[in-house]
Amino acid sequence: MVIVLEKGIAEENLQNVIDHLEKFGFAVHKSVGAEHTVLGAIGVKPGFDIRQLKILKGVREVYRITEPFKLASRTFKSQNTEIKINDIVIGGTEVVVMAGPCSVESEDQVFRIAKTVSESGARILRGGAFKPRTSPYAFQGLGEKGLEILRKAGDKFNLLVITEVMETSQIQMVAEYADILQVGARNMQNYYLLKELGKIDKPVMIKRGMAASIEEWLMSAEYILSGGKSNVMLCERGIRTFETYTRNTFDLSAIPVVHQISHLPVIADPSHATGLRDKVIPMARAAVAAGADGLMIEVHDDPDNALSDGPQALLPDQFNDLMNQIKNIAQVIGRKI
Ligand code: PEP
Ligand code: MN
Repeated sequence: MVIVLEKGIAEENLQNVIDHLEKFGFAVHKSVGAEHTVLGAIGVKPGFDIRQLKILKGVREVYRITEPFKLASRTFKSQNTEIKINDIVIGGTEVVVMAGPCSVESEDQVFRIAKTVSESGARILRGGAFKPRTSPYAFQGLGEKGLEILRKAGDKFNLLVITEVMETSQIQMVAEYADILQVGARNMQNYYLLKELGKIDKPVMIKRGMAASIEEWLMSAEYILSGGKSNVMLCERGIRTFETYTRNTFDLSAIPVVHQISHLPVIADPSHATGLRDKVIPMARAAVAAGADGLMIEVHDDPDNALSDGPQALLPDQFNDLMNQIKNIAQVIGRKI
């Protein structure tokens, strides 16, 4: 940590800052410049709140040099994390595509969509059985029946299954049916849920919260990793901004940023990020070009009658076109689909 002090700080205030740092267990180095005196505080104090220094008299600015996340950091592990599930590797050279409806609506619906996305080259079937809806009157999902349908469809069409878990009491049930457990954007900071997910073996994908910084998102991953688990992936699904032409703002740059500071795979979800069918294909292409390790795409064969997120669902033919396009993009950057 670097602490820049106010110009001409009084000796007693300077000593007070040093005393505080030493009390917190830091080794302190002082550097007196022509304009400012700067203190270097050495040592890692997990959970240390830099505001404890910012409020001290004579302190102008405090900069942290090391990230608050450790296990999720590239400094801790320089090699990319590869998550192997059966014959699929997430975080390797393949860009893994997850596709399916927003919600599991019926067995017929999931089977039809699973068949088409699998034929187009998707590797993982998505679908919500427990749905986090803004309105309590909106469709809330089929629950365990929905999980059963996903599993059956996944097995039939040789797809892995990813689905959302919303609360701790559902973890065991969801883990029985799914290959990957999804933490939704609204639950990214549900720390009790994250801690419990750190105790299971199955991989977890954490979606970025609607107003979460990249650091907060990685801290959520840290919660799961600190349970001793290593198979965690992240999913950029757009953040809320002042922009209204799209449902959310797709933070494309989060992909290279996370790749630089973390070893965890990053999946991109242009469906929730844009909320509009005609924006999904261009942003999916961009995500692959930016180095995403996978895509999550909502697909529906009757989106006008979908029980959730119809306007952002690709039609099966559009999904097939997208798969053909991103194969070429992946090849250019030395990856495959
Ligand atoms: C979803 O993937 O179905 C979903 C609800 O996404 P998010 O949590 O990103 O809104
Ligand atoms: Mn959805």
